[in-house]
Amino acid sequence: MSAITLKPGREKSLLRRHPWIFSGAVQHADESISSGETVDLLSSNRQLLARAAYSPTSQIRARVWTFEAEPVDKELFRRRIRSAISARSALLLGEAAEGVGVRSDSYRLVYAESDRIPGLIVDRYGDVLVLQSLTAGSEFWKETLADLLLEETGLATIYERSDADVRELEGLQPKTGLLRGANPQLLLTINEHNLQFKVNLAEGHKTGFYLDQRLNRLRLRKLARDKEVLDCFCYTGGFTVNALAGGARSVLSIDSSADALALARENIALNNLPLEKTSFVEGDVFQLLRRFRDENRSFDMIILDPPKFAPTAAQAERAARGYKDINLLAFKLLRPGGTLVTFSCSGGIDAGLFQKIIAGAALDAGVDAQILEHLSQGPDHPVSLHFPEAAYLKGLVCIRK
Ligand code: SAH
Repeated sequence: MSAITLKPGREKSLLRRHPWIFSGAVQHADESISSGETVDLLSSNRQLLARAAYSPTSQIRARVWTFEAEPVDKELFRRRIRSAISARSALLLGEAAEGVGVRSDSYRLVYAESDRIPGLIVDRYGDVLVLQSLTAGSEFWKETLADLLLEETGLATIYERSDADVRELEGLQPKTGLLRGANPQLLLTINEHNLQFKVNLAEGHKTGFYLDQRLNRLRLRKLARDKEVLDCFCYTGGFTVNALAGGARSVLSIDSSADALALARENIALNNLPLEKTSFVEGDVFQLLRRFRDENRSFDMIILDPPKFAPTAAQAERAARGYKDINLLAFKLLRPGGTLVTFSCSGGIDAGLFQKIIAGAALDAGVDAQILEHLSQGPDHPVSLHFPEAAYLKGLVCIRK
């Protein structure tokens, strides 16, 4: 097998079971290792530390498949996929037992490093699996992984959405389309805690829907009764529909995407919720919040679920200004006693920093507020203790005093 030898001292992160090797840690790589090929990772004194996928063009030069001296083959991936699936089954059974309602039929089935398959994301939407391959290693094994997913789930259809920008860093072109099965319904209706949502698997964001907010949407449903709600960055109406289902008095929803808003309207109708209590504005949240402030408007509940402002820590400062700006405006628009539900999905901003930014926003808005709850991505997006980077979504429920 091909091998990579690390510089002295650079085995430390592997010994802590972090699965990445950066290019700067590599002393020597065998010649002509192909993209995604499995390599032995050796310490400077030639001890085998792990087996990994080689990414020749990426700064992250190798990602670990296993820390054992075991073969990296179809059976290893079968074990990984089985364990990912059984964790999700247990989770959803638990939710049903807690009375959360009808099980969701859509959730993340495989979450990359967290499930020890770096580069592979698999989301389940009803009976269709949507696969995203993000790295040279997952690309190398893609056909095997697709076969295993069908064998282990008993399903027949996989649609590929490998169109995320990060593939470029791995020297991979975007790729979308049917991977397994025939003629899937690409505009399908999913069930999430007794509510239906139309999801466009071919063109929707990420793999179609923001599954990471699944339980937070349910949480919001319970907080929305009788409230006048402002849902900023509403996408296809995930929070809007839940607020209405929870008895909100009215919901004003903003997004810059006309397509997303059109689907949001359909989702309200689909659930027989009162369209007359809703209004939609296509536009820029930053500008609209300013306009609402100038018009002295106010709300009982404001949701801020913006797109990623900082994918990495390097962009954190600019992103922090963006978060502070919208949260400051939101605090001003919030009535005393009102609820702010605010999120960041920026990997570059950790929970501590996010809380500081929100505190700064409240201070500059001249309001006092308290945190009622900390929110995060759902447990179908688990975080390996050895790979904290997998935790990207953080949220706060704040009450304005
Ligand atoms: N809350 C949603 C997900 C929001 S994703 C859910 O639970 O499903 C972020 C959304 O912000 C996207 O729909 C995107 O179209 C929108 N968006 C991005 N920048 C924006 C801006 N400046 N103003 C308004 N909407 C924006």
